[in-house]
Amino acid sequence: MTISFSDLPIRDEFRGMTPYGAPQAPLPVALNVNENTHPIPDDVATDIVDSVSLAVRDLNRYPDREFSLLREAFAGYLGHGLSAENVWAANGSNEVLQHILQAFAGPDRTVMGFGPTYSMYPLLTQATGAQWFAGERGPDFSLTAASAVAQVEEVNPNVILLCAPNNPTGTPLPLDVIAAVYDATDGIVVVDEAYFEFAPHDAPSALTLLDGRPRLVVSRTMSKAFAFAGARVGYLAADPAFIDALRLVRLPYHLSSLTQVAALAALRHADTMLATVDNIVEQRDRISATLTALGYRPYESWTNFVLFGGVADPQATFLALYERGILIRDVGIPGHMRVSAGTEEETTAFLDALASLEF
Ligand SMILES: *Cc1c(COP(=O)(O)O)cnc(C)c1O
Repeated sequence: MTISFSDLPIRDEFRGMTPYGAPQAPLPVALNVNENTHPIPDDVATDIVDSVSLAVRDLNRYPDREFSLLREAFAGYLGHGLSAENVWAANGSNEVLQHILQAFAGPDRTVMGFGPTYSMYPLLTQATGAQWFAGERGPDFSLTAASAVAQVEEVNPNVILLCAPNNPTGTPLPLDVIAAVYDATDGIVVVDEAYFEFAPHDAPSALTLLDGRPRLVVSRTMSKAFAFAGARVGYLAADPAFIDALRLVRLPYHLSSLTQVAALAALRHADTMLATVDNIVEQRDRISATLTALGYRPYESWTNFVLFGGVADPQATFLALYERGILIRDVGIPGHMRVSAGTEEETTAFLDALASLEF
C-alpha cells in the first residue's frame, strides 16, 4: 500500500501542499526557469576547476564558517561603499531568504508580498510557521507607493518581500515605492534583486537606499545573469547587525569550501560571466516585439524573461511547444505564459514554434 506524506504525522499546515516543482525535462530548448542558457566560458571554467582541485586536498577540514574571502569579493562586486561585514551568502538566494525568514518570521508572525510574485515566497514563509499574506498589484502588475503603503498599513507584516524587478511578471519597482514601504513599517523589508543585472544600465539598485535603513535588505543571486545556477550561490547586503541575526539560524559551515572557491573564481571573472547579459536583453526585447506582432500581449520586462497574455489555452500551448522540444512556463495566471530569453538560436526556435501553432 502506498501512502502520501499527508498520511504521516506531518505539521497540519503542510497537508495537501505541493512542493516547488518546475519541470526538469531534458529538452533541447529549456526556457522555463530563467537560467542564463549560455554555458560557462572555457577560460573561466578552467580557473574554477583549478581552484576546486586545490581545495579538494583540504576537504578533511571544515570550510571557513565566515566565508570571509567570498564576502569580501561580493562587497567589491556590489560597490556602493559596502564591506565584508555588510554581506551574507548561502546556497542560492532561496537559502538566503530562508535564513531571513527563520530569523524574522516564524510562528505568530506575518510575511507579505505583492502577487503574482515569486512562488517560493509563500512556501519559505509557511515552512517557518509564519503566515503568508498576498497583497495586490495594479494594472499591468505595477505597484505604486500609495497602494503598497495602504496595504502594508492594513496587514502590518513582520517581513515584506519586494521582488524588484518582479518574477513572474518582469515588472520594475521604482525606488520611491521601496522607500515608502520602509517608512510605513517597522518590520524587515527585503528587496529581491535576482534579476537586477538585466535592468536598464542607468536603473538604480535598492543598494543605494541601504545607508541609514538597518531594516532594509537587498538580496542577489549568481543563478541568473551570472550563469551559475548549478553552483547554488546567493547573497545579500544589509547592516552588520542584520547579518549577525542570520548567524543564529544558519547551519554551521553551511557554505562548502568547494562552493566558496568556485564562487570566488567566478567572481574574479565577473566581466566575462556577465558578458552575455546584453545579448540576453536583446533577445528578450525581440521576444516582446515578436509576441506583439503575433497578437499576444507581452508585459514590460526588466528581467531575462517575458510574461505574455492573450494565450487562449496555456496548457495546450505548453504541450504543443513541449512536443517541439521547447520548454516554457505556465505560471498559473489564466491566459498567460512566461518564457526566458535564451541564446539567439533558442529564442528563434521558440518564436518560430509559437508562430506555427494553429490555435
Ligand atoms: C531565480 C530567483 C531567485 C534565485 O534563486 P537561487 O536560489 O539563487 O537560484 C531568487 N528570487 C527570485 C524572484 C527568482 O526568480
